[in-house]
Order: sequence, then C-alpha cells, then structure tokens
Amino acid sequence: MAAFGTVFMPEMALTTFENNQWSEAKFVSADSIQMHPGAHVLHYSSTCFEGLKAFRHADGSVNIFRMDENIKRMAQSSELLFLPKFDSEQLSQMIKDIVKKYVDEVPAPPGSMYIRPTHIGTEASIGKAAAPSGTSMLYVLLSPVGDYFAGGARPLRLLLAEDGMRCAAHMGMIKSGGNYASALGPILAAKANVNADQILFCPNGDVQETGAANFILIDGNEIITKALDSSFLHGITRASLLTLAADLGMTVSERELSVTELLERAAKPETEAALSGTAAVLTSVGTLIHNDKEIKVGSGEAGPKATRLRQALNQIQWGQVPDTHGWLTKV
Ligand SMILES: *Cc1c(COP(=O)(O)O)cnc(C)c1O
Repeated sequence: MAAFGTVFMPEMALTTFENNQWSEAKFVSADSIQMHPGAHVLHYSSTCFEGLKAFRHADGSVNIFRMDENIKRMAQSSELLFLPKFDSEQLSQMIKDIVKKYVDEVPAPPGSMYIRPTHIGTEASIGKAAAPSGTSMLYVLLSPVGDYFAGGARPLRLLLAEDGMRCAAHMGMIKSGGNYASALGPILAAKANVNADQILFCPNGDVQETGAANFILIDGNEIITKALDSSFLHGITRASLLTLAADLGMTVSERELSVTELLERAAKPETEAALSGTAAVLTSVGTLIHNDKEIKVGSGEAGPKATRLRQALNQIQWGQVPDTHGWLTKV
C-alpha cells in the first residue's frame, strides 16, 4: 500500500479569483498548476487547506463526513489570511462534483477518499509582503487512502514541550502551511533526541496539541481536552468525539489542562490519552516524555474508552449505525 497521501486522482476541481470574481469551477488535470514564480503564496505563505473524507457504505452510496464544518473552517482560515472570500456553496458543489466523478474509486472501509481543498494567493507581486494577494486559486484534490492502522496501531510516544510553541499564537486556529513549517524543526529534533513520534506543545505548561492533531485525555468517565481558543486548531474530529462521548454518557470537560495535572492523571492505571484528527481518527498515546523521564499513560496500551469512541465515530462514517447527528452528505 502506498504511503498516506501519495496517490491522487487524475483530475481535480478548480476555480480562480481574478478581477474580483470567481470563475466557473471546472475539472482540470491534477498533475500540475501554473502560477507565476512571484506568486504571493510562494513568498508570503498565503495558503490554507482542509482535510475531510468520503466513505463508501455497504449499500454502495458514498458519503462525505461533516463537509459543512470543513468548509466553514476553510472560510475562517481564508478570512484570517486575508485571502479572497470564496462562495461556500460553490466549494460544496466542487467537492461533491469531484467526488462523484471518482465515486467508483472511493475505497471501502477502513479505506476512504481523502479530500484536500486548498486555497492559495496567486498574485504575482513580491512587493506585497505586508499586503494581501488580490487573486487566488481554490482547488479540490482527491487521494484514496487505505487503513491508517494497517500493520497495527502502536501507541504513540509524545514529548511534552513547555518551551516554544507550534506556531505563532494568533495563527493556531488557521489550517495554514506556515504553521507546519514552524513546527517541523522541533518535531524532527524530538524524533532524533528521544525517539518521540510527536511533540505535544504545552507552552508555559498549558497542554495544547501536536503538530497536526488534537490531544484528548480520558480519566475514568471524564474526557478532558483544551477549551477552544484562537491558539490551536479546532478539530472536527475532536468536536465529533466530544459529542459521541456525551452520547455514551461520559462527562465532557473542555477546559485548561496543565502539564502537572496531565502527569498526575497519566499515572493512574485507568487513564487513557489519544490524538484526534481526520487522518487517523483517534490514535492512542502510550508514553509521555517529560524532562528526560518517561511516563506511561495508564497501561501504556490502547485503552477501552478510546477504542470505543473510535469505533462509535467509524460506525457513523461507515454507515453501520444511523447518522443521528446529520453528519453525512450523500454525493
Ligand atoms: C487538521 C488538524 C487537526 C485535526 O483537525 P480535524 O478537523 O479533526 O481533522 C488538529 N490539529 C492540527 C494542527 C491540524 O492541522
């Protein structure tokens, strides 16, 4: 199986914003795009993206998970980057149209069609370091993906980093390329130095998130995660899991979580920790690394609550239980 995100459908849906208007969306080859080497995005990082999935159900239908939420978040990212405002209806249609075009290529569960809408500033102007791009391009790429856990899900090792942060505080809730570039150095250092899979960014002791996933702590019947603020990415998987946790009778605590509290709770045998995001849904965390010490989270293995929550979300995505929250859009 090819690595996640390396296989693409031959065409994508694309629209451009020029002369103050969006063009009619069309299908174009997904092999390449053309833009000026002085394009705003290439110099000043006017870029944002989304990641969502379409799932094949046993009845043959193909359903996109929480598309409206991803479109809303992309509108917000675009606004915060001062990219041209796009038409959410148009983007919604583009996503449905391109998925429909490749409906036969949508893998069956546990695989899915990963959908990557991307919005970039294209104005050829290297003088606009402190001004927005007047033109932009919005396209929807498709990448069929297999089972993220093929070969078994090994619990992750996370380095808790209290100094430094993932990205500039006011950029945290924007799904923008520069934030991943900003986190790369620390993540590579953590891999090299302590064999960590990811860094859990905890600026000044405030437990935030990793480079590309939200952090969730489960202690008995309580699920704890940082309350929304502008410093981190508001995951749609996170929101969905909290809803399902409440459905399952768990106590949902969206609040500040300190490193001290995290380490105290992690030491209890029934505690579980996990990372949430569209790609892997919910991945268990087995070990926290803090000041050269390794702390096992609970048993150090994937726990029953995280496993149950992941199953509850997958069952909705895969059409195995009724979609009572209205999260699926049939294409
Ligand atoms: C995409 C992303 C997430 C997870 O968001 P989902 O909507 O659940 O996929 C969390 N943190 C960061 C930094 C992300 O880029």
